[in-house]
Formats: sequence, C-alpha cells, structure tokens
Amino acid sequence: MTDYPHLLAPLDLGFTTLKNRVLMGSMHTGLEETKDWNRVAEFYAARARGDVALMVTGGIGPNLEGSVLPGAAMMVSGEDVANHSVITRAVHADGGKIAMQILHAGRYAYGPKCVAPSAIKSPISPFAPTVLDADGIEKQIVDIVTCAQRAREAGYDGVEIMGSEGYFLNQFLVTHTNKREDEWGGSYENRMRLPVEVVRRVRAAVGEDFILIYRLSMIDLVPNGSTHAEVVQLAQAVEAAGATLLNTGIGWHEARIPTIATSVPRAAFAWVTQKLMGKVGIPLITSNRINTPEVAEELLADGCADMVSMARPMLADADFVAKAATGKSAHIAPCIACNQACLDHTFSGKISSCLVNPRACHETELRITPAETSQSIAVVGAGPAGLSAAMTAAERGHRVTLFDRAEEIGGQLNMAKQVPGKEEFWGLVDWYRTRVADLDIALRLGQDATAPDLAGFDAVIIATGVMPRDPQIPGQDAPHVLSYIDVLRGKAQVGKRVAIVGAGGIGFDVAEYLVHEGTSPTESLPDWMREWGVADPAEHRAGLAPEGPQPHAPAREVTLLQRKAEKPGKRLGKTTGWIHRAALKMKDVKMIGGVTYERIETGGILVSDGEARENPRLIEADTIVLCAGQLPERSLADALEAQGIPCHVIGGADVAAELDAKRAIDQGTRLAATL
Ligand code: NAP
Ligand code: SF4
Repeated sequence: MTDYPHLLAPLDLGFTTLKNRVLMGSMHTGLEETKDWNRVAEFYAARARGDVALMVTGGIGPNLEGSVLPGAAMMVSGEDVANHSVITRAVHADGGKIAMQILHAGRYAYGPKCVAPSAIKSPISPFAPTVLDADGIEKQIVDIVTCAQRAREAGYDGVEIMGSEGYFLNQFLVTHTNKREDEWGGSYENRMRLPVEVVRRVRAAVGEDFILIYRLSMIDLVPNGSTHAEVVQLAQAVEAAGATLLNTGIGWHEARIPTIATSVPRAAFAWVTQKLMGKVGIPLITSNRINTPEVAEELLADGCADMVSMARPMLADADFVAKAATGKSAHIAPCIACNQACLDHTFSGKISSCLVNPRACHETELRITPAETSQSIAVVGAGPAGLSAAMTAAERGHRVTLFDRAEEIGGQLNMAKQVPGKEEFWGLVDWYRTRVADLDIALRLGQDATAPDLAGFDAVIIATGVMPRDPQIPGQDAPHVLSYIDVLRGKAQVGKRVAIVGAGGIGFDVAEYLVHEGTSPTESLPDWMREWGVADPAEHRAGLAPEGPQPHAPAREVTLLQRKAEKPGKRLGKTTGWIHRAALKMKDVKMIGGVTYERIETGGILVSDGEARENPRLIEADTIVLCAGQLPERSLADALEAQGIPCHVIGGADVAAELDAKRAIDQGTRLAATL
C-alpha cells in the first residue's frame, strides 16, 4: 500500500494513459539552445527513468517574432524536427511521455520584431511591440499550428500551448494589453477568440490521439486582468475546441506579487485551480510551490486538481516520483524554491542547474561513478560544501568520516532556516541528515578536528566555512553591538530600533528576521495573501485586493546600511531580489547606501556620506548588528599545509567572497566526483 494513492493513480486520457498524476512543468533551462541534443535528451530521459508521467519541454518558439529572445529554440524546420526526435526517442526508450511547449512570447519577446494585440510596451522589456493586423494574426495562428504538426512529426506525445504568464495569447485576453476594436478585441468573446481559435486549429491539424495541454492563466495578478467568470468561460471554450488537459498559470511575469519564490507558501495557489474543478470535463493540473509528494497527495485527495505540475522539484531530484513510489520520499532532494541555479541562471543567459543538485542539466558532464578503489576520506565541516563532498564520495564507495565543531550538521543552513520566508531550509537539512545516515557516513560532531585526528586518512577535505569580517568600526565592542550569528542563533536580545551594518544577503536576512514576530506569513496562507494583496478572482478582477498589500506592522524599526552608493539589494538574486526589497519596504525598513561608518555610540551609529564624509548624523538604534560579509576560515587548512599534510580546500574556506550554498555544493560535489 502506497502513501500516495492519489498521486500514483494512472490517468486515462482516452487514447493514452498517464502512469501517475505528476507532470514535469515547462522550464527554460537553456539546454535546447546548446544544440547538444544528446545532452538535452539525457536531461529528459533521466526524468523519464524517474517515473514522471508526462514532461513538458521548455518553451519553443513557433516563429522568429514569437521567440522569447533572439537565438531561442524554435520548431520551424525539418532540421528542428530531426533534432527534437533525438529527445523523444530517448524519453520513449525510458518509458516516458513528453509534450513540447509552444511559446509565443508576444510583447515579452526580447527583440525589436516582437508583436502584440496593441502597441503597449511591457514594463519588463525595452522593446515596443508592433501591432498585428488581421493578416498578421492569421500568420501567428498558422505558425503555431505548423509548429504543433512538426512537434508531432518529431515524436512528441503532445504539445502544451502556453496561454498564461502574460505571453502572447494571454495578452489578447485582457484589456490590460488588448485595446483593439476589431473582431480580436473589445468584448470578452472577441478577446478570447485567438486562444480558442489556436486550440481548435491545432487540434484539427494534429488529430485526436495527441495530447493538447492548454496553460491557462487562472489569476493574472495584473490590473485589468481576467475575472474568474472569464477564466471559466475560456476554460470551457478551450475544452470544446479540443484541449486534453488544462494546466494552471499563476500571475504574469510583470506582476508585483511573488508566485514561486521560497517565501510563497507551499501550494499557495491550489485553491485557484480548485475553483475551476467541476466546471470543465477535462482533467485540471495545479501548480506553483508544490515540492513534496505529501503536499501533492493532499491536494489531489482534497479535490484541488486531477494532476499536479512540479517543475523545479524535478531539477532537484530526477527520481522524485520513483522515490515516492518506493517508500523513500525522505530521500528526495528538496527544491527549496530559491531560484538561484535555475531561473536566476535563465535570466542571466546561463544554463540552468539546481542549487541542491549540481547534476541537473549537467547529466552528461558531471557523472558520479563508482570509485576505482575505495579510500578513507575525512571531511571537516558539515555545511553545504562538506556535506556535498561527503555524500558524493560515499555514493562512489569511499569510506567517509565527517567532522564538525557544532553538535548538528548543516552549518550556515541552520541560520538561514531561522529567517521567515526561508523555512524550506529545514527540509534541506533534514534531507542531508537522512542521506548521511543512509550512506553510513561516520559523524564526529561537537569536536574540533585537529591534524592528529586527520592522520591516516587517504584524503582530507577542508570545508570549514567562513568567519564574519571585522568591519573595525570604532565603538563596535560595546554590548549593544551584535554579530549576525548572535542574532540568527537566537542567543541575543535585540532592541526595538536596529541599525544593520551591511546590506548583503545576510543583512537582508537579518532585517527580515527582525521585522517579523509570530508565525511567518510563509506558514499561513491567509496572512501571506493579505501581506501581498492577493484576493479571490471571483470577487476582485485578476485576484488583486483593492486595498493592496496589508502587511502586519513591523516588529522593529530597522535601518539597513551599506557603503556602496548603489541601491541596497541590487546584487541579490536576479529573480528574487525585488521580492526581498519589496518585503522590507512593506515593513518600513529604511535602506541607506553610500555611508561611511564614523563610530558606534550608546544611542546608535554615527554615519556620514561617502568618502567626503559629509553630513554626519546619528542613526538612532538600541542595537547594531554587524553583517559586513565573511572571510575564509582557513586555520585548519593552513596548519595542515604547514605540516605538509595535503588537503583539498572547498566552499567558504576556499573563497568566501559572494559565497553561497550554490557554489559550495557545486564545488563539493565536483571535487568528490574526481577522488
Ligand atoms: P555579502 O553579500 O558579500 O555582503 C556583505 C555586506 O557587507 C555588503 O553589504 C558590504 O557592503 C558590507 N561590507 C563589506 N565589507 C565591509 C566592511 N569592511 N565594513 C562594513 N561593511 C562591509 O555577504 P553576506 O551578507 O555575508 O552574505 C554572504 C553570502 O551568503 C552571499 O552570497 C549571500 O547571498 C549568501 N547568503 C547567505 C545566507 C546565510 O544565511 N548563510 C543568507 C543570505 C545570503 P559595502 O561594502 O557596500 O558596505
Ligand atoms: Fe529549486 Fe533552487 Fe534547485 Fe531551482 S535552484 S530547482 S529553486 S532548489
């Protein structure tokens, strides 16, 4: 008897059956653009072997004007068909099913050729779109239909027509972007004509025995977006036009409400899909912030949807479904929704990977193979770098001993998990604990490893992490000055007015920690919805609460300081930095850049402006928290090197600058893959 009867139940689509209820949602990994088709094929085949019922590829353009950016993957030629058939053959050989997403970006296309229903530039693109005339619209339809036919020729089991997230079809649906007065604009019947026509003509072209998923924006989260009644009307029309499955889209890319970040509660939008249950006859797929089999099972059991889409969790662990099906769900590497190695990479033009699984999208390059001879390996430091090295080495058959001064594994992850909105880190540390036990890694916790302890090992890996940088501000030895470690470890009393020195990742985390009290909104969906102004789209158009965000009052008065004259938080994650900045602004956190720290006094911190040290003034504060960056903790590595004992130094102990768990885990895994 499985723990997940709903999740693992097959889904009969009439002409074909899906083996369970898990869809791997579309992700733009950048793999298709490498044109290394064997590499792309192995990425999807690994997930097919992991028993995902149906996968959707990253968005593939139907023509130049609709492609997300110049050079993005398209399906427009016989050569494209041949290339994509490498993927479909590999997936089918491993027992999987795969649909190709047809993505026409409309005004979101990052290029001067972009087209749209009306001449309204998107706030997230510098390119003003060209308005399509009737012939132009017909060309887009023909291109999308031809693209679908080619997908079928390439061996795909279906297509997903991207109709959400503010892309082309979505742009026709709402008056936010569609001001037309012809048959493609005006009334809702006219505005939904294009999506429905596309589905009807794609169905006619590909035949009945081909999966056609329509991704429908169920809550736009932008002004003048759809009402729930319009969503229902569209869903029914799309069903009548021939869709096999309806997938859920949440929010436009330009929406100022987070929809997938780690601070969004798990399954935060499943209720939106549920509102459509019973209104259409075809199966509904729900999505967004679903990352464990338990959550997915509960949603299906509660009747929120017929199927669950998980995208990033399949980067974190290709074997998600297979592990859930074999009673090993505690072994599933958890997606912590950080976006650091997936979406942040996409938006920086880099190939995606995953913070917790550096092999994601690098399957053909980073191979973990059995070691030729089993060695005894000591790893010092049980933070992300040391844990990854220890686990990878043990997976390869080495005998590993892991030392840490602390009584528990996790290193700085144990601080991160204290921050409201970063609760996913608890699961990550739990996963490490499970894997360490399963791999028989010998733990030596609560002890400082010394050179004699490390004698006799075949290899020594030093992952001793970092120590706080000393900012050397006069007066910093006063009792009201704390380190971020004192604060995040909960060891120190913090006053009502706080000045934070340093506005990097940790400065922002400390600010978030200090302005909250009580239950984190990430743990309470109603609170989170109120904080960000999310409403029921049946009551308020597009799901935007008319009163806007209604955050709880801040628990403290916080000022965040940095010396650089740039906007504080500018260097935070590409896709999540805006959320951290907005969240702190909602809590009235003052952010001041370009300061020089003069001295700390009893009543606060005296700062001036820039190198000229003009305008000296006291930032009043009861507590000052130092978050001035970090330096490598290399004392053990240096001692070993002085004694001629060779060691590998990784993670923060190697380079602390801009260290994050992504780099630490990647470095630890890659080193251990070679030992
Ligand atoms: P960081 O992001 O490099 O930020 C360091 C901050 O300290 C900057 O604001 C910097 O700004 C300031 N600073 C540097 N030298 C200073 C000096 N001598 N005196 C005063 N201020 C100084 O480092 P971090 O905040 O320590 O974060 C480290 C890494 O961990 C980052 O990559 C971050 O993304 C990641 N992270 C870790 C956690 C965690 O819990 N472990 C949490 C969040 C993020 P100025 O030089 O302009 O003053
Ligand atoms: Fe999830 Fe972060 Fe990995 Fe992306 S990088 S898949 S968000 S854990």
